[in-house]
Amino acid sequence: MRNDKLIIGSHVSLNSPLFYLGSVQEALSYGATTFMFYTGAPQNSYRLPLERLRIEEGRKLLLENHIDESKLVVHAPYIVNPANKTKEDLFEMSIRVINDELNRTAAFNAKILVLHPGAHVNQGRDVGIKNIAEALDKVFEQNHTDVKIALETMSGKGSELGITFEEIRQIIDLCQYKDRLGVCLDTCHINDAGYNVHDVEGILDEFDRVIGLDRLLVIHVNDSKNPIGAHKDRHENIGYGEIGFETLNKYVNNPRLVNIPKILETPYYLDKPPYKKEIAMFKDGEFVNAWRDELE
Ligand code: FE
Ligand code: FE
Ligand code: ZN
Repeated sequence: MRNDKLIIGSHVSLNSPLFYLGSVQEALSYGATTFMFYTGAPQNSYRLPLERLRIEEGRKLLLENHIDESKLVVHAPYIVNPANKTKEDLFEMSIRVINDELNRTAAFNAKILVLHPGAHVNQGRDVGIKNIAEALDKVFEQNHTDVKIALETMSGKGSELGITFEEIRQIIDLCQYKDRLGVCLDTCHINDAGYNVHDVEGILDEFDRVIGLDRLLVIHVNDSKNPIGAHKDRHENIGYGEIGFETLNKYVNNPRLVNIPKILETPYYLDKPPYKKEIAMFKDGEFVNAWRDELE
């Protein structure tokens, strides 16, 4: 039976000339009920002014299609590293960019900003975690939007922080503005970080015990090219990686996670977006063999 109530979508682009209107159209073309986007290029912090992004037209189309804006997700650019205080100007830049990104997220009437916690770059894990909490405090001191930051669980490549639920918990504990913080659980990342991703109820129990399921704001649904504990972070299409459809479907269609948006960040296959098929499989709760061969 098709579950049309599922809150599921993928990352979509925000490109000239249609900008946000195009993002919404793209999401709808996949049969999505939510989506994630960057307010500019993921790799840098250069951002076009909001007036150029056709936000009102995009929002109108969203509302016509009964998409709940409170479940939309914005992803902060990768270049910020609030864990790094080795160069004071870089640390200040991260604070400025995160603050800006919260304001931009609010301009779309979205409520969730996903942020990679950062990498400690030889400062040590505890120092890195302390720096992240300090940066977040400086952001929230000046930012009074109703947007929450969802700290993403990371795979542990390089010196990434936030690779265990305990590390995420530490950041939250050290931050003064705890009600502004939540978590984004990425299935590929927890697999690569060393969690037994297949023990779905065990993972959720552990998350609940260490962080609290009420902090879970987003799930990134990705298969992984690599086995458990590989610390690589290479996403794979649903059912073509080491995790597999059956396990991923237990997250997507989990009764404990009904209200949480699920976002696909799987790769294009032969230059074609896979999301329409991936979303349909999760709505049906059924894997389609060799679905990638049927992409248009
Ligand atoms: Fe991410
Ligand atoms: Fe992710
Ligand atoms: Zn990733």
